[in-house]
Amino acid sequence: MRFAIFGDIHANLQALEAVLSDARTQLCTHYVCMGDIVGYNANPRECLAIIRELECPTVKGNHDEQASMIAEGEGFNALAEEAIQWTRQQLTADEKSWLRELRLQRQVRDFTIVHATLDTPHKWSYIFNQLDAATSFSYQHTGLCFIGHTHSPKAYVRDGSVRSMPLDILPLQQGKKYLINVGSVGQPRDGDWRSAYCIYDTTSNEVELRRVEYDIAGTQAAIHDAGLPAKLAERLEIGR
Ligand code: ZN
Repeated sequence: MRFAIFGDIHANLQALEAVLSDARTQLCTHYVCMGDIVGYNANPRECLAIIRELECPTVKGNHDEQASMIAEGEGFNALAEEAIQWTRQQLTADEKSWLRELRLQRQVRDFTIVHATLDTPHKWSYIFNQLDAATSFSYQHTGLCFIGHTHSPKAYVRDGSVRSMPLDILPLQQGKKYLINVGSVGQPRDGDWRSAYCIYDTTSNEVELRRVEYDIAGTQAAIHDAGLPAKLAERLEIGR
């Protein structure tokens, strides 16, 4: 099996289409969505329709939660908040209830998926370093776990100690635990504007990080047309 594992799409339709088309060329057979389908960019409904059509295992992200809440939440910065209020107005009651019912974590075959962390998935904490990763590892009961949320692809391994590892192509070894951040489809923040996602090949037992170019001008035009803050369009170019 070849799993395409992707998340933090954030309503970027052009990026999602580019990633799915790359996954098809890479002969992926299964799809897994790490959450944050909506928020920030201008095509939440279209992105949601594509994910629902895929019928793939999906976990809830903090933007999915905020966009679908019955009472308004708090804790977002001004830019994210403006976009989430706009998103809330776009989504139908059915779309919101689909988002609301997503689970925070799931097991798919032999691996776990969670948007933020395994220790406190509902608190939306961030795994930025080995220490954060170590806390999550103590709640990880599968050899492999995928996360998102920081929008920066990264791999951690636990074999006695916890360290970070390069993620271009990562061969998985027996007896070790891996925590892999698949990066972001729709708003990368590691300084590389291209969409990120991972392919997990269960035969070769490797995880590969893919970077995919997409029609960024199309995404930016949609942001302007929707009347969303121009900053949201500008940041895509620099990958921040
Ligand atoms: Zn996100």
